Amino acid sequence: MPRYHVKITGKDYEAMADLVRIYKVHVARHTVEKLAKGYRVDAHADGRQIRALESAGYKIKRLEDLDKEGKVRQREVRKAAKKVPAAEAIQATTMARYLTVDEIEYWLADSAKTPNDTFTTLITLPNPTWEKRTCHALKIGKDVGSNRPAIYLLGGVHAREWGSPDILISFVRRLTHAYVANTAITIGTNTFTAAQIKKIVETKDIYVFPQCNPDGRYYSMNTDANWRKNRRPAPAGHPQPSCVGVDINRNYDFLWNYPMYYDPTAPVVNSTDPCDYQTYIGPSAVSEPETKNAVWIFDKYPKIRYFIDVHSYSEDILYSWGDDDDQTSNASMNFQNAAYNGKRGIAGDAQYKEYIPATDKTTAVNLANKMKTAIQNTRGRVYKVEQSMDLYPTAGTSDDYAFSRHFVDKKKSKIYSYTIEWGSPNNPTPFHPFYPEMAKIIQEITAALLAFCVAAT
Ligand SMILES: [Zn+2]
Repeated sequence: MPRYHVKITGKDYEAMADLVRIYKVHVARHTVEKLAKGYRVDAHADGRQIRALESAGYKIKRLEDLDKEGKVRQREVRKAAKKVPAAEAIQATTMARYLTVDEIEYWLADSAKTPNDTFTTLITLPNPTWEKRTCHALKIGKDVGSNRPAIYLLGGVHAREWGSPDILISFVRRLTHAYVANTAITIGTNTFTAAQIKKIVETKDIYVFPQCNPDGRYYSMNTDANWRKNRRPAPAGHPQPSCVGVDINRNYDFLWNYPMYYDPTAPVVNSTDPCDYQTYIGPSAVSEPETKNAVWIFDKYPKIRYFIDVHSYSEDILYSWGDDDDQTSNASMNFQNAAYNGKRGIAGDAQYKEYIPATDKTTAVNLANKMKTAIQNTRGRVYKVEQSMDLYPTAGTSDDYAFSRHFVDKKKSKIYSYTIEWGSPNNPTPFHPFYPEMAKIIQEITAALLAFCVAAT
């Protein structure tokens, strides 16, 4: 059944919550707009869901057929890959097209070779994927001095968000190239001076894991363009294609078993059904090799103090928390306190809000604003800096897991954590925009990451 990119208008909070609770529509959480009467959200829905919503009184604006247009994007990638071989897909620091799964690995490994080998290290992740692919990360940092803060950049978690690994490869190429050449980087009206580049590489460690879910990416680029999950084999007796896979970004150990922790009426965008096309949380927390790899980096490199997970779409920079509204006054009202089980995840209510120390919130917002400014200075796009929770809460995500580690175990570093959602909902096929638009997005997010690395100390 074809799936459509849609805008859905509902009359009130309950109607918007029902999109997730009853109609199981996949909403782009941070595209909720408050209208004079009701709300509008960007979403994905198939024909049956659209008919059900219309007869329930929702207003639907149907945009492109995601599968049909996704096939056009897939053909463009295949054609471009034939015309421009891997070794020419990147000219010094700019890219000609989306990179394939193998090319992301190729260019990551290439970035660790001479003359970069004096300040980079290729890291092999310990857990092969379900389809037996081996993943790699890259450490950038010239080891001098012991008190080096570390920044961890993750990408490619959701299969269909094709541009995230490409953004991180662009970031790696530009940073390493400028460091070796001792030159500045200019993106739009942003200038990162040679001295700033040198300071990043020589006083901080940057860990880049660009392609967390290569199996899913391969499947999205070649079979189902809208595929989101990994490729865990379907449970026995479930032959439907949607029964394959787990949503990696619902599989982390943070309020993972959400039915126990959240209010039963909370519109949490998660599913315990293995056949859910989008957000199956997996058989247990951190059950997936991809999640294990992402977590391994936190455990292995305890100096990580900053984390950014690169996703699409909605032009947002999201800071902690995602499970409920933030509050700064009651430290005992927190995700570890079982007294609040069954009360979390309702926007704007008083029964539960998640505790964040006021100084942490200030730090988190200030750093997010650095990225916002760098993006705006690239070509004028205005990203929103927002708390991850808004109308729809999350559970089991990477950003909340990363920030929670210090609260669970005070011996672990506090990690300021973000999710970037690149790209506008107004792009057709917004998870994998037409490449000329993606190339501009790559520029703006590369600028944001560089600005972040300058500012994070
Ligand atoms: Zn995503």
